[in-house]
Amino acid sequence: MGRHDPERALAAARREFGEHGGVCPSVERSTTFTVMAPETMPEIFHGLRGPDKGGYFLYSRHFNPTVDVLARYLAALEGAEAALCTASGMSAISCTLLQLCQQGDHIVSSHTVYGGTHALLAEVLPAMGVSTSFADPVDSESFAAAITPRTRVLFTELLGNPTLQVADIPALAEIARRRGLRLVVDNTFTPMVCSPVQLGADVCVTSLTKFVSGASDLIAGAICASREFVQQLMDLRTGRAMLLGPTLDPRVAFDVIQRLPHLPLRMREHGRRALAMAERLEKIGAPVCYPGLASHPQHQRFGAMANPGYGSGGVLTLDCGTRERADRLLAALQNQTRFGLIAVSLGYYDTLASCSGSTTASEIEPEAQAAIGISPGLVRLSVGYTGTLEDRVCQMEEAVRAAGLA
Ligand code: PLP
Repeated sequence: MGRHDPERALAAARREFGEHGGVCPSVERSTTFTVMAPETMPEIFHGLRGPDKGGYFLYSRHFNPTVDVLARYLAALEGAEAALCTASGMSAISCTLLQLCQQGDHIVSSHTVYGGTHALLAEVLPAMGVSTSFADPVDSESFAAAITPRTRVLFTELLGNPTLQVADIPALAEIARRRGLRLVVDNTFTPMVCSPVQLGADVCVTSLTKFVSGASDLIAGAICASREFVQQLMDLRTGRAMLLGPTLDPRVAFDVIQRLPHLPLRMREHGRRALAMAERLEKIGAPVCYPGLASHPQHQRFGAMANPGYGSGGVLTLDCGTRERADRLLAALQNQTRFGLIAVSLGYYDTLASCSGSTTASEIEPEAQAAIGISPGLVRLSVGYTGTLEDRVCQMEEAVRAAGLA
């Protein structure tokens, strides 16, 4: 078997037609489903006849035909056995961690994670008796050193938000395997580009809100893992996804299904433009960071993990040093040169820019931000693909010069 190619795997999995032979899958909006004979119902409840066993649907918080189609496509894309769709990226993360950890358990997490994830690990889970130690994503051995007898999970983002530090997934997978732990990887920044499960992760969590949706008009998430883990999440008595209930609406699932065929094209174009932008910024002496640049400290590590042909993702950062200079850059990008929009989030077709320390990483205390390399002037750019590349590079350069960064 050759190396996993997400585009091929997705194309092979996309076999679902509409109810009347439509080229699009049907949207099944029913919350409840009938059976022909009353005896069937208890069999579904006892797990003997669920749709995963070639049987029937029961209730849409459990399984929904349209949401199931999306889950199958995402599992194929990530090279995982199975997947479960959730109502947000955060619920994918929280249900996964709550399924794997009980009161008294411990997590070792990368210190560079999305602010919401950081707050979950540092504030919410400790209140439930689950503690977290934070480790350096660049140094896999710092994860090993933080493991205690109560550790159950190693958690990291493959490409850390917002510093773009690259975690070594095969090395962390090996540590997890040796110590009997589960490795959970957030692949929100790099769908298609990297496939964490194929690199050894037990669970890949993703916010579909970003690149996978691509239009900044819906919130959704997914958990890609073994069939056994997905079944655990959906267990009627103990499944955290089943019982906490972050169910994805089938209409939203349908929207995501319709966007998957062009995800490979979009990721390649995000990557092509982000690289061109990063190269120009580097050339004019601007403080740019992008994993596709040879100057990125983990450039080689990233290249070794990336699926060939999809580029290095659509996110780059510019460290403006101070919040004032960052604000000057943001204002110039949006209001002067019209390069992009001042907004949080990522993966949109237009460029989105925000100052991370005071927005999406603000849940992390300023001293901790400084310690992990989030300067108050760090601007994160999710590079879009509208307009011509030539015009966009000029607009970016003009804004960077106007902000005094080059
Ligand atoms: N993971 C990462 C890396 C993110 O950047 C975000 C949101 O910004 C999330 C998870 C949460 O996703 P959602 O907003 O879909 O809950």
